[in-house]
Amino acid sequence: MSLNKKIAAVLAIAVAAMLPTFWPNPYYIHLMVVIGIYAILLLGLDIVVGYVGEVSLGHAALFGVGSYAAGVLHAKLAVPFLLAVPASIAITGLFGALLALPALRVSGPYLAMVTLAFGTIIQILINEMDFLTNGPLGLSVRKPVWFGHHISGTDYYYVVLVALIATLFVIQRILKSHLGRAFEALHDSPIASDCMGVSVYGYKVYAFVLSAAIAGLAGALFTYSEEYISPNTYNFELTILFLLAVIMGGRKTRTGPVLGAIIVVMLPNVLSDIDLFREISIGIAVITAVYAVYAFVTRQRTARQLALPLAATIALAVSGFMMENITDHRLTIFGAMILFVVYYLPNGIMGFLRGIIVKFRPQWIHRHTLISEHGDMQHVWAVPDHPVTANGFLLEARNIVMQFGGLKALSEVNLQISKGTVHGLIGPNGSGKSTTMNVLTGIYKPTSGEIDFNGKLITGATPSSIAGEGIARTFQNVQLFGEMTAIENVLVGLHHTYRHNILDVVFHTPRCKREKHAAEVRAASLLRFVGLADLANEEARNLPYGKQRLLEIARALALNPSLLLLDEPAAGLTAPDIKELIAMIEKIRSHGITVILIEHHMDVVMSICDKVTVLDFGQKIAEGTPAEIQSNEKVIGAYLGGSAA
Ligand code: ADP
Ligand code: MG
Repeated sequence: MSLNKKIAAVLAIAVAAMLPTFWPNPYYIHLMVVIGIYAILLLGLDIVVGYVGEVSLGHAALFGVGSYAAGVLHAKLAVPFLLAVPASIAITGLFGALLALPALRVSGPYLAMVTLAFGTIIQILINEMDFLTNGPLGLSVRKPVWFGHHISGTDYYYVVLVALIATLFVIQRILKSHLGRAFEALHDSPIASDCMGVSVYGYKVYAFVLSAAIAGLAGALFTYSEEYISPNTYNFELTILFLLAVIMGGRKTRTGPVLGAIIVVMLPNVLSDIDLFREISIGIAVITAVYAVYAFVTRQRTARQLALPLAATIALAVSGFMMENITDHRLTIFGAMILFVVYYLPNGIMGFLRGIIVKFRPQWIHRHTLISEHGDMQHVWAVPDHPVTANGFLLEARNIVMQFGGLKALSEVNLQISKGTVHGLIGPNGSGKSTTMNVLTGIYKPTSGEIDFNGKLITGATPSSIAGEGIARTFQNVQLFGEMTAIENVLVGLHHTYRHNILDVVFHTPRCKREKHAAEVRAASLLRFVGLADLANEEARNLPYGKQRLLEIARALALNPSLLLLDEPAAGLTAPDIKELIAMIEKIRSHGITVILIEHHMDVVMSICDKVTVLDFGQKIAEGTPAEIQSNEKVIGAYLGGSAA
């Protein structure tokens, strides 16, 4: 966190702590408690929605599980508050795992449906399990008594405030760690994530369980705040409300969920008091008008783009004065506001504000300020001395068949890769080169055949476990984590070097600091190796195409592979860049890393490959040294003929 942000955080906490003194109305204090509780839940929901990018319609139910866990423990077993709350967190985390393990096999709309079904089942269970939950009658709970003092509504406000601050702190630390980076990476490019050893499924489940545990905390706090819980609270509408709050507030921020909670809790109140509604709608219209004038004068927006939002906010303000009574129109206004936010502020209100701030303070974009001068390649690379296959090869693929429907993309292909060599794989477009690479890295499971790597069968293993075995790759269609900086991309490749767990992350233990520092030094030196040191803090999607390819190589090397697969690395590179690439591949080989190189630039292939395999229509038609391949009749006929002539 920058100093400014820290000062803002301290000020916000001070204001929040003083609110009950200046605003002692119990009704409003209760509203603020609910805001705090919702904010906690939304911070957790944002991990799933904002970072992992999946929609969960099960969070109201998880909130309910947390509520009832605390309620049942209190009402049936007289468990004290300070034990009931952590127990609720654990129980809800467990329910989250129960939901996530099967549900996250699917994604998108299917996942939304599975979580929706989960919500319905939980509501039915709460209703039916009378002996625990009292069914529709609900459970009564009392706020705790501490040191002979019965906790009042105002006291409870401070309890929730402390819980909210703790949640903010913990989530901030997690999301800024290698765990948060994994969540972001799997959203940006699931394939690359898996191939960097960051299991997409595993980390999705992780994120979901974390999010569920936080919903459990919110639920337990809610039970003690309401002092009465019943099944109807945790319904479908609440789940939708939570999603809207995250989206309106702004995804992938800490402030967004808090703002979203304020909006969804206060809005029903605003929409029941016509005077308050009039004041606020005028305020919104004035802010929009000021922004519109600013955006128009600075030419950031055209008059046409600005006309509709401006007209809409003015219409909202005018409508406030035309209505006598607002309660009849509540839902309409609520719906219109949601549409407005979703349409005009796709990154939510905080995302929009941040966009403006970033314009004035460009250095905020840089999330990392490193690239230390120390660390050189010799120290950074330590290629593990792996055993080889029975026949003395690093990798052997035997009789690989890959069938796509009626098409045999690979038929009975055999490959033998010797340790420490650069092995070329060439052939016309569509001959099965990339498919070979996808089979070797576990993206495709071959229809038949087996792959032996380091004396171990890896056929059918998952991409992330194959990556863990020491096979790294780049992609023909670049697969970077676009929204992350260059150095963060490499740090995802270094994920395997992080041994510390979530507790180390939260408490910033020496182990956490040490591993973090070591990874950053290594990432910096890998970037220097591919010549991207100056672009370390640039977002990957903003790099020129050729540089993106080089960044992929750096990220693959971060895996500390014994075998590196390069799929057309020279595509999109300029002539001087290609020269550097050749030098780079030679250097990689000199460090003991074996390379399989798919390439169309024959000069590259012929100058560095020790051995070349030629594919045509999914079949191996030739294999040998570059000189043998160049004079092979079959190869000239099928592939080289065109370029030779
Ligand atoms: P290249 O040698 O140009 O890299 P590919 O390995 O990408 O060739 O493709 C080989 C053949 O397999 C092509 O005919 C391609 O259309 C087909 N193919 C590759 N992947 C798939 C897939 N996922 N589904 C169907 N067909 C595929
Ligand atoms: Mg290809």
